[in-house]
Formats: sequence, C-alpha cells, structure tokens
Amino acid sequence: MSIATTNPATGKVERTFDALTEKEIEDRLDRAAAAFARHRATLVAERAACMNAAAGILDDEAGRIAAVMTTEMGKTVTAARAEAHKCARACRYYAERAGEMLADRPVDAGAVDAERAWLRYLPLGPVLAVMPWNFPLWQVIRFAAPALMAGNVGLLKHASNVPQTALFLEELFARAGFTEDAFQTLLIGSGQVERVVRDPRVRAATLTGSEPAGRAVGAAASSEVKPSVLELGGSDPFVVMPSADLDRAAEVAATSRCLNNGQSCISAKRFIVHAGVYDDFERRFTDLMRSRRVGDPMDESTDVGPLASEQGRADVEEQVADAVEAGATVLCGGERLPGPGWYYPPTVVTGVRPGMRMYHEEVFGPVASLFRVGGVEEAIELANDTSFGLGANAWTEDPAERERFATGLEAGQVFINGMVTSYPELPFGGVKHSGYGRELAELGLHAFCNVKTVWVG
Ligand code: NDP
Repeated sequence: MSIATTNPATGKVERTFDALTEKEIEDRLDRAAAAFARHRATLVAERAACMNAAAGILDDEAGRIAAVMTTEMGKTVTAARAEAHKCARACRYYAERAGEMLADRPVDAGAVDAERAWLRYLPLGPVLAVMPWNFPLWQVIRFAAPALMAGNVGLLKHASNVPQTALFLEELFARAGFTEDAFQTLLIGSGQVERVVRDPRVRAATLTGSEPAGRAVGAAASSEVKPSVLELGGSDPFVVMPSADLDRAAEVAATSRCLNNGQSCISAKRFIVHAGVYDDFERRFTDLMRSRRVGDPMDESTDVGPLASEQGRADVEEQVADAVEAGATVLCGGERLPGPGWYYPPTVVTGVRPGMRMYHEEVFGPVASLFRVGGVEEAIELANDTSFGLGANAWTEDPAERERFATGLEAGQVFINGMVTSYPELPFGGVKHSGYGRELAELGLHAFCNVKTVWVG
C-alpha cells in the first residue's frame, strides 16, 4: 500500500509520500535511542508541562487537524473535532495523574525479611506503535500520552492512508516541548515493520488493527522476547432484555453501530434481543438506522460519511452479499450509494446464521446483525459464540441479570445500559482474538514500565 492521502469522499489521491529508506530508518532509530537517554532523565513534572502544552495545541487547533483527518479517512468533521478534544483531555489526565501512578509503591517489608522493600516504575525505552487509521489521533494519543509520561520514547508507524495526521503527531509533541525526537513518526510500509520490531534499540511494541497484523507484530516481538500489547478487532454483542429502556437502547444501538461510519473496533455489531421485545426493538432500531444522514463528511449535518477505503467498502459488500445468498434478509440499506466516494448506508440484516461470514467476522462498516433469543443464558451463549472478545453491551434493569452479564460475557469491558467507550480513566483491551494487554489508566501506563522490585536488607 503506498503512503498517500486519498480522499474517501471523492476517491482522489491528494498527496503522496515516499517511504523512509533503510538509511533513514537507521538514523531515526539512533535518534530514538539518544532521545531515550535524555527523556528518561527528565522530571515527571517537566513531562507533565509538555503534555499540558500538547493538550492546549490539540484544543486550539482541533478544527485544522479535524479537516486533515476527515480528508484522509472520511470520518465526519464533527466526530474528528470531538476526537481532537478527547485527546486533549487524555493528555491532561496523564499530565495530572502520572506522578502518582509512577510513585514508588512500598510493600510489606517484614513479610519479605527486608528492612524496606518497594516497587519502582521505570521506562523500557523506545516503543514502536503500529496504529490504524480509524481514530487516527486517539489511537496514537492513548498510547503516547501514558508512554511518554512514563519516560519512554515513541516511534509511530501509522496506517499508510493517514500520513498527514501521522506527521502532525510528530510535530505536536515537538511543539509541546518534549525532548527532541522523543516522539518520531516513521513513514514506512507494513513490510518494514518487522525489521523495526526486531531492532535491538526498540524495546517493546504495541499494535491496534486487524488480527493478521497483530499476529505478525506479536510473533516478531515475542520471538525477540519483547513485550507487546495488541488491540485487535471486535464483533461486540449488544444484548437487550425485556426490562430495558427500549427508546434509549435503540438510540444507543444505532449510534454505536454508525460510530465512525461503522468503523470502530468497539461498535456494537451483533444485536441480540429477547423475544419479548424483539419486534418492537427491530422496528425502532431499523427506523433509526434508516434515518441517519449519509453524505459529505465535511458537512456539519452529516451522520455517516464514506468508508475509509475502496477495499473496505468492497469487503463490507461481500460480507452482506454472502449472508443474503445464504438466506439472510436486509431490512434497510444493503446497497452502495451511487456516485463518487466510498459510501455505504446504515444496514440492518436478520437471519444471520453460523457459516455466513457476517456471523464469524468483524464487519467494518455500518452493518448490524439482529438476533432473537429466549433468555439470558441463550443471549450469553450467542454473544460469546465468536473468536473476538473486545467489548460487550447489555441492557437490563434487573440486578441479577446485570451481574450475570458482567461475569458471563467474554470481553475486556462490559457496559450495562450504555455504549462501550474508551475513557482515559478506564483500562481498555480485549480477550480471545481481540488481543492482550491493556491500554489506558494505570494499567496502560504500567504496560510499558519495568516494574522493578527493590529489596533492602
Ligand atoms: P490493518 O490491521 O491492516 O492496519 C493497521 C496497522 O497495521 C497499519 O499501520 C498497517 O500498516 C499495519 N500492518 C498491516 N499489516 C501488517 C503486518 N503484516 N505487519 C506489520 N504491520 C502491519 O488494518 P486495515 O486498515 O487493513 O483494516 C483491515 C481490517 O482490520 C478492518 O476491516 C478491521 O476489521 C480491522 N481493523 C481494526 C481496527 C481496530 O480498531 N481494532 C482498526 C483498523 C482495522 P499499512 O497501513 O501500511 O498497511
């Protein structure tokens, strides 16, 4: 894949970039190692001042960077601006909280025959972040803010279709006053990633993206005995029980499925509804999906813009066609929109069964599968009948059912009566083929720390 900005609303290539040469990669890696020696020696308070400056830039320049993101990957400009402000909030959160997260933690010295014993959190070194295009600022910031605060330095290999956002991120941390080269963008193709992961100057890797990409980076890191965090896809269930507030559940269901033009790992994708309220939910949800405004992502009133790539739209079309051929029914949408741009409308499908691609695969577009179930256990069994385990939503006013869903749904996060969302304050990650390790909150900050035990006799 060439490194280029191609506008998904028009299909036109707007700018192309050359990948770094081998010599340039070597130079960047040398600079990362040198930057680590300087950056790790800074005080947490100094890093916090830079991180707050980065937050200020993100807030002040939200409009400019939002337009770049929308041009590169098609998200609505309103969503892109909100993403920039969310990133600013995350930067401020780690600026404020990293000090306490990194403070020495005493342990019971008497129990370990010591005079004094404690845990000390030290950085690992240059960390490679392989990132996707779908939340091109947020996915990077949620790695970079805690990692830089912990004293690591970052090397970003961003998706090849968001090079201008990738370069903005490098510039952001430089302008915010971080040590020179503390955060560098490597404009490289996916074929050059393994070489960087295996380089001894790189101490750890994190990847957000598809399962094949995760397997490749995770395998290279583990064969070099380097830690990695993988945040891969999801096919999140959204369970609705009879006691649920159906108005809210249907509204949140449509919002979740259409989030980011349907291209979010934590969008609800499989809607599992109790038979007692199924018909009512199906009607409300389908009406809401049909009513979403599809169009130019630069238009402030648009709800759903184009998919990020021509291939992405072809994949969604093939998944829906495969289900329809095998007997599934399309209640709304289901046909690409005519004209330029990679538009695909909000779509609801019923009758999705095992064996159909949509049953087993992540659908990265605004396409929902609806299922009818008879009770809690059947809902949990269906929800868990997937190789993914990222997020899960359940809607019920019954305390016993809430408990059952909280424990029984196989996922890294379960949201009851709300939409799965990532917050700087909450650990985020998956189980099963959705990945391993956690980003965000204290767990995320410690993911790239040497948690050193110190024992003094
Ligand atoms: P990819 O997983 O291919 O891309 C994510 C990142 O990984 C990009 O930087 C990409 O680089 C890089 N990459 C891809 N393959 C390799 C590899 N073998 N070794 C090292 N790095 C690699 O996502 P796509 O954009 O192709 O999307 C495909 C599917 O992935 C989607 O349909 C969706 O199901 C899933 N996905 C999930 C995301 C999530 O948030 N969990 C985000 C994006 C995609 P390059 O761009 O140069 O190929």
